[in-house]
Amino acid sequence: MLEKMEEFNGDKVIEEFEALTEDAERVQRETLKQILEENGSAEYLLSLGLNGRTDPESYKACVPIVTHKELETYIQRIADGETVPILTGKPITTISLSSGTTQGKPKFVPFNDELMDSTMQIYRTSFAFRNREFPIKNGKALQFLYSSKQFKTKGGLLAGTATTNVFRNSQYKKTMKAIQSQCCSPDEVIFGPDFHQSLYCHFLCGLIFREDIQSISSTFAHSIVHSFRTFEKVWEELCIDIQDGILSSRITVPFIRTAMAKLLKPNPELADLIHQKCSSLSNWYGLVPALFPNVKYIYGIMTGSMEPYLKKLRHYAGEIPLLSADYGSSEGWIGANVNPKLPPELATYVVLPNIGYFEFIPITDNIGSETRPLGLTEVKIGEEYEILFTNYAGLYRYRLGDVVKVMGFHNSTPELKFVCRRNLLLTINIDKNTEKDLQLAVEEAAKLLAGEKLDVVDFTSHVDMSTEPGHYVIFWELSGEASQEVLNECSNCLDQSFIDAGYVSSRKVNAIGALELRVVRKGTFQKIMDHYLALGSAVSQFKTPRYVGPINNAVLQILCTNVVNSYCSTAF
Ligand code: AMP
Repeated sequence: MLEKMEEFNGDKVIEEFEALTEDAERVQRETLKQILEENGSAEYLLSLGLNGRTDPESYKACVPIVTHKELETYIQRIADGETVPILTGKPITTISLSSGTTQGKPKFVPFNDELMDSTMQIYRTSFAFRNREFPIKNGKALQFLYSSKQFKTKGGLLAGTATTNVFRNSQYKKTMKAIQSQCCSPDEVIFGPDFHQSLYCHFLCGLIFREDIQSISSTFAHSIVHSFRTFEKVWEELCIDIQDGILSSRITVPFIRTAMAKLLKPNPELADLIHQKCSSLSNWYGLVPALFPNVKYIYGIMTGSMEPYLKKLRHYAGEIPLLSADYGSSEGWIGANVNPKLPPELATYVVLPNIGYFEFIPITDNIGSETRPLGLTEVKIGEEYEILFTNYAGLYRYRLGDVVKVMGFHNSTPELKFVCRRNLLLTINIDKNTEKDLQLAVEEAAKLLAGEKLDVVDFTSHVDMSTEPGHYVIFWELSGEASQEVLNECSNCLDQSFIDAGYVSSRKVNAIGALELRVVRKGTFQKIMDHYLALGSAVSQFKTPRYVGPINNAVLQILCTNVVNSYCSTAF
């Protein structure tokens, strides 16, 4: 029997969103009440003396602000199979693994039906706004989706990355169908065990359906850029497969071969056309529209640590617009991008006031306990805050670790710009440089490479305290070989681009040593990604760590053993 197709009515979705954001304070109170009523019997909440109270004031007075560390033992007990209500009233049956970019290893976080519902609510909301500005026809989407391995925890709970838990959920397919965003690749490709093979097949499917492809997407922009960089290397092989209708021997997974055999038929005209298109491009500029003539936009998270990939993505995209996707985490979603026309650098996210209870810790120079968190509707335009959230899946006043800036309000709900991770800080003594400062410094120095037609493929940083005084180390992977002279200039420029007063004054008196630029071999950042994948992370959620601390020894080792040359700044 045919499954009933979920109807999608964009106007209705927008109407509901407008109503929801109209009186965000009331919605927040109701949401908190509902979360506390549903989970009041959980051991964690019982122990805090709320005694059934559900108002924000009592909640804030009784419940402490926590990080993942404080909740770890509770989550572990759930994963180990304890069946008493620990963090939630209803038992948690699934665990998500966060990418663990900052700590170097994935964290366990609870996942449940409510998180799935809010994920779909976010997807539908941003699609409704997106489709109003960039309507797509009922075609297909080339989506670089990958699943991580799912496994059972000691207590028998299903565990996988949050994206995997979402992709595997039956609601996901229904929603994607309703919002005309069906992946052109079969499930066997998405859920394949080897992402290199899946990536190759995603392209093959995309090319077979090239006329139908309406959008290109991935969870994070890094993955889209990585895919097209790979395409540059394998395109001729893809053409041969299409010409002969025979799948490359690089695909070894039997179920993927079977699934692909149903789609791949000899098509010499298509192979010729793709060959011709690729051969006529100059340095791959405009590759996306050349391959996919009906694509309307490229979609994925493009803010925060994804911004450095935008230049390359624009190069591939030519005139095709880049639209940033929404803002969320394995722990839960936060906001939807309802202004898709804004370029990714200006993208903001409107918080959905019914998916959790949100608080904001003002960012001041003194990280002290006296900084009272503000409610969702109390935040001020232009100010920066760290997000705290309470969700339906057992996280209460949880520090997500992200810094956001309030750019405006949509009705009564704030529009947030993602700024950076709070704990990613390059610091030796009085200097404080965030992930954003690092990004700006790299952008500035990378301009010097333009003359050599080179770009920074990826980068990260480290603080080297083995020298006296300690100094910043910036690792760069480049798209080709740059001259010594230019790289010396780059290291000076990096050093000068950290304009934080604490850094500059420390450099002047040599309390911080000369910045060191270390250029690593091509493929080093691929090795870092492979390392994270081996730990259980999924490509869909991969984010290059922008700071590698001393405890992240494995990644540091990969970087240090691949250094080709290093350049010390002489700027001070
Ligand atoms: P994970 O749960 O490991 O996949 O990563 C979630 C983290 O990704 C968030 O806490 C943010 O730091 C980052 N992130 C998610 N969405 C966005 C976005 N739209 N813009 C910038 N960073 C994001």
